[in-house]
Amino acid sequence: MKSYLSFLEGKARFTAWLVVFFVLLFSVPPLMATEMKVAAKVLGIIVILAISAALWIWRIQTVRRMQRKARVALNLNDRFWLNQHISFYKKLPPRDKIIFEDRIGLFLAEITITEIGKDAPQKSTCLYVAASAVISFWGLPYWNYGELNEVLVYPDNFNEDNMIDHKGVIAGKVHHGGLMDNTMVLSLTSLKKGFILLDASNVGIHEFAHMLDKADETVDGIPSFIKGEERLIWATLVERELRRKVKQSKFNAYGLTSEEEFFAVLMEAYRENPRRIEKRYPELFAILEGHLK
Ligand SMILES: [Zn+2]
Repeated sequence: MKSYLSFLEGKARFTAWLVVFFVLLFSVPPLMATEMKVAAKVLGIIVILAISAALWIWRIQTVRRMQRKARVALNLNDRFWLNQHISFYKKLPPRDKIIFEDRIGLFLAEITITEIGKDAPQKSTCLYVAASAVISFWGLPYWNYGELNEVLVYPDNFNEDNMIDHKGVIAGKVHHGGLMDNTMVLSLTSLKKGFILLDASNVGIHEFAHMLDKADETVDGIPSFIKGEERLIWATLVERELRRKVKQSKFNAYGLTSEEEFFAVLMEAYRENPRRIEKRYPELFAILEGHLK
């Protein structure tokens, strides 16, 4: 649906469509006055159909907007908790903190968080998950987090079969398709660790960076906010980096396994320690800053 409605995005395009519509509308009476009555009738029908379609689209969008659930209000304790545990939030100026809290509230209202082994998820778990999402999408308009429905939080790391296993190497993953479509799985131990150690690695931000990449329906390591010529520049720079041997690269080895993982690992570092990315990848840093600052 999104692609059909894309012509409505942006004021310039909207104005262009409005002009076309009025030109069509005002050409009906002169045509009626001439011999071209059939053409006038056809044009009239086209205008009526276009108005109906526009109204229909507007109605769908309004209903969808009204369906958005009321955000969860954060209290003083939650704000205190965020200041204590989320350094990204702590560093924000007061005005941005309000936006951050608002987005946390929206996320908690719209996305189901299930903590395995608990009847209801703990508030701190929910705040860790929501903060990961908000930080990953910071600087962009509020998005639907790549159609994410649910986040399952396991107490510890898990293995390939989603079995909890303290030796398990998987700290987080996103499911596409199948029974667990649009579900994210996170290990609470690793999720917390990501926010305690500011070492440019954070599994929550990593997984939500994949959702950011997926928001344009393709998981290719280039999110949709990077457009046109910048996409080419991005792809070329990343390809060059991926060709390097792991030992020669200063990057986390896992990030060199594919374009998607490169983007997710890059975002972890960009959000936790942007100066590190500025130093190592000034061109990529400039592109990110152009959109996310
Ligand atoms: Zn990944």
